[in-house]
Amino acid sequence: MSEVVICEVGPRDGLQNASRRMPTEAKKRWIDALAAAGLREIEVGSFVPPKLIPAMADTADIVAHARTLPGVKVVALAPNVKGFERALSAGAHRITFPVSASRRHSAANVHMTPEAMIEQVRQCAARRGAQGPEIEGAVSTAFGCTLQGAVPEDEVVRIAAALAGFCDGVTLADTVGYANPAQVRRILRRVRGEIGDKLEGAHFHNTRGLGLANALAAFEEGVRSFDSSLGGLGGCPFAPGASGNVITEDLVFMFEAMGVPTGIDLEKLFAARALLVEAMPGEPVYGHTPLAGLPKGFRAAA
Ligand SMILES: [Zn+2]
Repeated sequence: MSEVVICEVGPRDGLQNASRRMPTEAKKRWIDALAAAGLREIEVGSFVPPKLIPAMADTADIVAHARTLPGVKVVALAPNVKGFERALSAGAHRITFPVSASRRHSAANVHMTPEAMIEQVRQCAARRGAQGPEIEGAVSTAFGCTLQGAVPEDEVVRIAAALAGFCDGVTLADTVGYANPAQVRRILRRVRGEIGDKLEGAHFHNTRGLGLANALAAFEEGVRSFDSSLGGLGGCPFAPGASGNVITEDLVFMFEAMGVPTGIDLEKLFAARALLVEAMPGEPVYGHTPLAGLPKGFRAAA
C-alpha cells in the first residue's frame, strides 16, 4: 500500500512547455514505462485548442491508450466546457480544471475571470453523469503570480471553497514556483479549515529550488497526493517565467528514504527517464537522484 499518491504530470505539464515535440508513439511508450514503474495516476494531456498548444493535439489518442493500462487513473486537463466535452468523450478518469487565483493569470490562461471559470467547472460537474469522471479543481497561482505578483490568500481560500462545493477534490498549485514552506503551511491550514478533506493535493514547481521543501511542508500538513514531473519538465506557456515541476525521481526518493511508501520502483522510474531522454534528445532534464544514483544499501519503504 502506498501512503502517498504521486500523479505524474510530465506528459501534460512537461510536454506542453518543452521546446521539442514528443511523437505520439514515443508518448505512449513513455506512459507505459511510467505505469510499469508503479505510477497509478498519470496526467496524460490537456484538451486545449491544438492551435494554442500543438504538443497536446494528440491527447484523445493518448487517453485512449492510457486507458488500456490496468490500474492507472488517466487524468486530463480541461480549460473550459469544450475541453471537458472532449475529455469526457475520450474517457478520462479524472478531469482537472485550472482556476487561477490571480486575475491576471486567469485572463492570460483561460481568457476568463476566476468567477467565470468557477461557473464553467460547476456546469461541467453538473453534466458529468452518474458514471462520469472525477472532477478536480486546481487553484493555480495559489502562492503568487509572475504577471500580478502577490495573490491574496483570501482569494485562494474563497476559490477553493467555491470549487469544493461541486468538485471531488481540490488541489493547490504553485504554477510559477513562488511558494515557500511557511506559506505552504499557512495557506494549506486555512484552506483545510474551510473545506476539510476536499483539500486533496498539492502541485509545486521547482523554479527556485524549493519544490521538495514545499512538498515536505504539505506532507506534514496532511497532504497525501502530489503532482510531479519526470526529469523536472514543466511550466505554463501562459505564465512567463514558470519552469519545471517538482522532480518525480527526487520526490519518490525523499518519501521512500523517509519510510513513506509510494508504490513506485526507483530503478524502473530511471528506465522511464531514459525513454524520455531518448524521445526528446537535447531537451533539458533535471534531477539529483538519477544522476547520483541510489545510496549504497538503499532500501525502499516497505
Ligand atoms: Zn504546473
